Parts: sequence; structure tokens; C-alpha cells
Amino acid sequence: MAQRLPGVDVLLVGFGWTGAIMAQELTAAGHDVLAIERGSWRETSTDFAPSFIQDELRYRYHGHLFEQTAQETLTFRNTPDQTALPMRRLGSFLPGTGVGGSILHWNGQAFRFLPYDFEIRRQTAARYGEAMIPPDMTLQDWGVTYDELEPHYTRWEELCGISGQTGNLKGQKQAGGNPFEGPRSKPYPTPPMKQTYGPMLFGEAAASLKLHPFPCPSGNMSQAYTNPLGVSMAPCTYCGFCEKFGCGNYSKASAQTTILPVLMQRKNFTLRTECEVTRINLDGSGAHATGVTYVDAHGNEFEQPAELVIVCAYILHNVHLLMASGIGTRYDPATGQGTLGKNYCYQLTPSVDVFFDDKLLNPFVGAGALGMIVDDWNGDNFDHAGLGFIHGGYIGGYMTTGRPIETELLPEGTPKWGAKWKQAFVKNYLTSMSLSLMGSVMPNKANYLDLDPTYRDVYGRPLMRMTYDFKQNELKLQDFAMGKMVDIANAMKPREIKKSPRGPHYDIAPYQSTHNTGGAIMGVNRRESVVNRYLQHWDVPNLFVVGASAFPHNSGYNPTGTVSALALWAATAIRDQYLKHPGPLVQS
Ligand SMILES: Cc1cc2nc3c(=O)[nH]c(=O)nc-3n(C[C@H](O)[C@H](O)[C@H](O)COP(=O)(O)OP(=O)(O)OC[C@H]3O[C@@H](n4cnc5c(N)ncnc54)[C@H](O)[C@@H]3O)c2cc1C
Ligand code: SF4
Repeated sequence: MAQRLPGVDVLLVGFGWTGAIMAQELTAAGHDVLAIERGSWRETSTDFAPSFIQDELRYRYHGHLFEQTAQETLTFRNTPDQTALPMRRLGSFLPGTGVGGSILHWNGQAFRFLPYDFEIRRQTAARYGEAMIPPDMTLQDWGVTYDELEPHYTRWEELCGISGQTGNLKGQKQAGGNPFEGPRSKPYPTPPMKQTYGPMLFGEAAASLKLHPFPCPSGNMSQAYTNPLGVSMAPCTYCGFCEKFGCGNYSKASAQTTILPVLMQRKNFTLRTECEVTRINLDGSGAHATGVTYVDAHGNEFEQPAELVIVCAYILHNVHLLMASGIGTRYDPATGQGTLGKNYCYQLTPSVDVFFDDKLLNPFVGAGALGMIVDDWNGDNFDHAGLGFIHGGYIGGYMTTGRPIETELLPEGTPKWGAKWKQAFVKNYLTSMSLSLMGSVMPNKANYLDLDPTYRDVYGRPLMRMTYDFKQNELKLQDFAMGKMVDIANAMKPREIKKSPRGPHYDIAPYQSTHNTGGAIMGVNRRESVVNRYLQHWDVPNLFVVGASAFPHNSGYNPTGTVSALALWAATAIRDQYLKHPGPLVQS
């Protein structure tokens, strides 16, 4: 029997990145906020000290900061006619657990989406005709525009001190930045990172092909920075133990380095760690959340009443919690009815490796977002007529890491082990790099999340089941982009190159990106979406669901800029509208 606790005003489920944003915004406005986080407290000085954080085996391979499948897992299959099996070890994506969540060990590649993304269906049909959108592509507009989100993108960049080269300031193109980006109201708060040899070669090759290279917008600081909350960060040292590691140098934007030093001082904020929310509770009407049920580290069960519940538990757990709580109608691919679980998307990440004889790139001098980018084939930045696919992706020439176990760029035909493997490793380690695509993924009616009929978790709840595969749009985009990457690679004048495409079927085992999206998508009406344009649940107005679960498709960029802008946009609506007049913010 759960012990019932005194009620709270605002309850956050999960205290990762969006949880920290929500807590900051609502406590600053004077509201009492309780956050419940299933992982432990994490502190830069003690948990990520530079004296031990570079333990690649512990952090990268034993996943010290990542979610463990003993705690939560999911089942997976490529297509609805297969039987899904439980993941005993996560590989393709590695969500975090603990205070700060996944952004603790992100790269820091800090992009905005294009204006096109938010009106993708309308703009695609207007330019190419409705026939360009295949019947099985469940494409829809987001219900919010780039112009509405722009001030929130700017606030996010200022909070995190993002380092970058502005490409479009209030409609005026700026030299050296991304000419395709949406207009921004302010420049980046800090200048771009200094590029090392590999990304410079990529940029020169791209420019020689008349493309538009620009430095990756970066959450790794190019210089010391103090954010509007008064929290200071230090310049990045290019240590290379960045993606999948915490930063002990206070140089990577995260909850710990941007928000927590201020938030944890506030008397109207309470945090309960090592407590896992197992259910969102509704009253008898089914249209009002009464709070949540959670289990602490000793197995004790509590019922925590709340006036307002905001779920910030990462896309996969957002969707699973809604399903496990029986909130909303689960999507059925056979009928197309229901919305919960619909439009699950991922990212498409083929690459081309380049090998030199005469260029020492020193790959261990790296940072998570150190690289040059070309955006010429992203979104609708180019004419898609006759190509057979929509959207695209950016191509990056990154130098993120030369970590000794993970970094293994070897030419075609190299044996997997033995003396020849060793020779090839030694020959190529210092003189190779990779070009990669951050490819968009369009929603498909056969890609979705639901509950597994067979496997259950430790609380007796069905595991979430993921059904996902690359579709024609992704495979045609990959063929196209691979040609472009090969052109850039050859313009770098290497000794040889190696192509590494994905597919034809999605493989959930190798790491690709922690860029899962969809499942509790936003939209303009309850027939097509789970949450409205303010991330408020259509059926339960005192429930908001925040994170990439709201994305109706996945763009050709990393997601966290848009995750953050949406969280700030939703927080503003909660603060200025909902808490003053509780009820639906949009009528449908
Ligand atoms: C290795 C890696 C590299 C990445 N690199 C980039 C990048 O370069 N650029 C980019 O844009 N994005 C990147 N990302 C993605 C980025 O980290 C996420 O977009 C971002 O952290 C999402 O924020 P969130 O609040 O939705 O989830 P999180 O930050 O993961 O927070 C969710 C929190 O909820 C908690 N939680 C979950 N379930 C429960 C429950 N039932 N009860 C209580 N608590 C719960 C979790 O423990 C976690 O702390 C990367 C991610 C990883 C893992
Ligand atoms: S590369 Fe820079 S931001 Fe990344 S962990 Fe090292 S010092 Fe921190």
C-alpha cells in the first residue's frame, strides 16, 4: 500500500536537462516545485574530476553514467510482423540516468532546426505538390513556428553560452556562418571554437566545391563565459573525453554547469533522487492528473499528489509512462487510429572515413562539437524534384575524439585482429578522420512505440516495444548524401577513403546517436497529436510532456537545441497562462 504524502504545486518527473529548465523557470517565478529523479545526485567536482573521468572502459564501455537495462529496457523489432525481443544491453542509443540526465554526457553539437521543419507538410506540398509525400509517411506540421520559438532558442543559447558563427542575423546573411539557418535575433553568445587540422581540411575541401562550410555551434566553450543566471564556465581544453563523459573542466553546457548552482539554493525547489516514478495517477474522470506513484531506493512506494505534473523523463520514458498509466489512446498502425506511440523517429548516420599518408591530424585533440559543417543538403535548402525523398541532413567533418579503444578508423579490407590489424591501426590512427551525415528521418506508419505483449519490468508493467526500420525516404537520402560525402572526401585529397553506409535495415546494436524522437507528438488537433502546441496533454490539461517525444519528425540536426527551445516555450506558457488560469491552453 503506497504511503500518501502531502501535495505539491508543481511536480517534475525526471530531473535531467528539461527538468532543470522547467525547475529554473517555474521556481524563478515563485512557484514551489518538486522534482523526482530516479538516478543519483551528480556533481562536477566529485563525479567528473579530470583525474579519473578519462577511464574509457568504465564510462564508455561499462556505461557508468548511462541507463542500465536491469533498471529499464525495451523490446525491439524492425517490422510489425516480427516478434520483438528485449534489449539486454543498450547500444544504438545511450540515455543517461541521474541528476542532469543525458546532457551530462552529450557532445554539445548545438543546432536550431530550420523554419521548414515546423511547417514541413505545408511547405513540402506547396513546393512539390502533395504527391511528394508518400501515403505511408505520416508527416505533419508541428503547430508552432520557428518565429515563435526563436526567442526561446536565443535564451537557450545564452543559458548555455553556445559558441558559434552567426549566419543570419535578423535576415542579413553573415560571412562564415550557416547561410541556410533561420533568422536569429542575436549572435551566438561566444565566438566559434578554434578548429584543428582535420576540420580545417574538411572546410577547405567543402569551400573548393562551392559549398558553405561553417563551424559547428558548440556547447563546448570557446572562451570563459558567464550566463544570465550568473554561472561561469571555463574554456574547453579539447581533452577529447567529451561525448559519453562528464566534463570535469566546467566547459560543457549541462544542468550542472548552467542551472544547478542557482537552482539548488532556492527554498521553493525540492529534489528527491533515487526515486522512480512508476505511474501518473488520474482521478475518476480520467481528465485530471492527481499526482504520481513512485518507488524509492528501499522499495517503499509513495503516492505524491500534485496540482500540475510535468513529465521530463526523456522521450522513451515519457512515452512509456503515459502508456503504463493508461493515458491517451495507443496508436494502431493497422487502422491509423490513436496517437500515443505514433511517429517514432531516429537519426540516419552513414559516414565516410578518409585516410592520409602525409597529414598528422592528432585525433586525440578533440571536443564533442569540434568540427566544420555543411548544410547545403539539409531540410529544403536544395531542390528535391526527382530525388524521391524529402528533407536531408548536414555533413560534418568532426574531430570529437581519438580515444584509444573507440577510435578505430581502418581502411577497407583490414583484418579484424592480429598483426595486420595492429599494423593498420598504428599506420592510420594519427592520419585519419571521418565525415558523417546527421540525416533526418521522416515518420512512417509502420515505425511506432507500443507495449510489449510478453515482457514485463520489475514493477509488472509491460515493457515498451519499439518497431522501427529505415524506409525508402532514408535509404534514398543516404544514397544521395553518400555521393556528396565522397565528393568532399576526395576533395580532401586523401590516400584512400572508406564508405560506411547504414542499413538497409536499422541495427539497434552499434551506437549511432541518442536522438530518439516522437511518440507523444505535438500538433494542431487531438486527432493527430498527443500534446498541443504548448506540450500540454489534450485529454489531461494539468499534464505537460516535455522533450523530443513531442517532435512529429526528426530533422537533419542534433535535437537538444529544439528540445530546449520547446521546454522554454512550454515553461513560458505554463508560467504566464496555465498557472494563472488552469485549463486547456488550446481548444480542439
Ligand atoms: C552520448 C550522447 C551524446 C549526445 N550528443 C548530443 C549533441 O551533441 N547534441 C544534441 O543536440 N543532443 C545530444 N544528445 C542528446 C541530449 O542529451 C538529449 O537531447 C537531452 O539530454 C534530452 O533532455 P531530456 O530532459 O529530454 O532527457 P534527459 O536529459 O535524459 O533527462 C531525463 C531524466 O529523467 C530521469 N527519469 C527517467 N525515467 C524516470 C522515472 N520513471 N522516474 C524518475 N526519473 C526518471 C532520467 O534518469 C533522466 O535523469 C546526446 C545524448 C547522448 C546520450
Ligand atoms: S572536450 Fe572540452 S567540453 Fe568536452 S569534456 Fe573536454 S574540456 Fe570538457
